[in-house]
Amino acid sequence: MHDAYKIGHYWEKITNHEHRSLCQRCGVPESMEHILTECSSPGQNEVWNAAESFWQQKYNHWTRPSLGLILGCALVQHKTQSGRSLPGVDQLFRILISQSAFLIWKLRCERVITHPDEEHSAPAIVNRWTSVIADQLKLDQALTHPRFGKQALPQKMVLRTWSNTL
Ligand SMILES: [Zn+2]
Repeated sequence: MHDAYKIGHYWEKITNHEHRSLCQRCGVPESMEHILTECSSPGQNEVWNAAESFWQQKYNHWTRPSLGLILGCALVQHKTQSGRSLPGVDQLFRILISQSAFLIWKLRCERVITHPDEEHSAPAIVNRWTSVIADQLKLDQALTHPRFGKQALPQKMVLRTWSNTL
């Protein structure tokens, strides 16, 4: 949102590192939008396909997230046709979009910085994504524990969020 990541245009001003401003795979400026929604490297497409399949187990409407939707995912409010709020849907959407985007970023950093000679396989990406989402479910379950008292997540909320997704 604040252009704080050292990607794309950031490198254009750094002598001898100008080449880092471009996505090595696509040859275009490597903006956050490119990384999260456009890059042809194995990563974003596989993750968003997995997110879509997951979402469509429970809900039928899905739009491939734009950068704006990713950045604003916590503000999206789903409603019934009569205008009733659906907090369980909003919660699942927030988790799904934010965790998927974060995984795409991590995959990109592994690909560009940590292991520049390796490419993630599609099954490996889907496995990583499944593990990320399963960890979020475990976290939500753990947060319902009575030892958290008033801070505990209501069980009802966790059920509303995750039912029919397993
Ligand atoms: Zn690219």
